[in-house]
Amino acid sequence: MTPDLGKVLDRAAGRIIAHAEELTALDSAIGDADHGLNMKRGFEAILADRANILAKPLPEALKAMGMTLVMKVGGASGPLYGTLLLTLGKELPAEPALADLAQALGAAVAAVKARGKADFDNKTMLDVWGPVARHIGKGAASFDSVRKLARESAEATVPMKAIKGRASFLGERSIGHMDPGARSSELLITAICDGLEGRE
Ligand code: ADP
Ligand code: MG
Repeated sequence: MTPDLGKVLDRAAGRIIAHAEELTALDSAIGDADHGLNMKRGFEAILADRANILAKPLPEALKAMGMTLVMKVGGASGPLYGTLLLTLGKELPAEPALADLAQALGAAVAAVKARGKADFDNKTMLDVWGPVARHIGKGAASFDSVRKLARESAEATVPMKAIKGRASFLGERSIGHMDPGARSSELLITAICDGLEGRE
């Protein structure tokens, strides 16, 4: 499979920008109301650098996107999404097979856990990326099953109590709200599936 990176990038950036207000609203419930703005700023910067990114082989393109997110997003999510992309760039070959993607995603999730000193069930983006990485690691995952799992995993953060990040300051009061980073992760994973599948 040779992914059309331009399509994937446009879907991902478009989805985040279109949902920026929703992400900020989620972050206003259990954080500081900036997640949508942070992510929008990061993906607009990626789009501004689109031609340069797409001229690179896949690993270098992923690293360039990761660096842009680290520099432009700010907030906790910038370095964490940056780490995810930088690790994927380090681990993936230029023309990955499904097994390469599974291995690289596993490494990327481990790197995000280490960077943020967080674990699963802490009510963060890891609660979406972790299950999705494990699912793909089992092999032969369909796009539909990945989209469904991303959706269910984001929903599953609603009853969780936040242990990491700003939402953890709320303690019990973080219960009952979807984690903003889990929702942005779901949006990204769904958009990546759509882009890889060639869906509009
Ligand atoms: P900030 O919390 O600095 O305002 P954002 O609002 O952009 O940054 O991002 C918040 C999201 O970042 C959370 O919803 C959560 O998913 C994620 N997050 C925060 N801290 C961590 C962590 N230590 N590990 C993994 N994800 C985290
Ligand atoms: Mg925030």
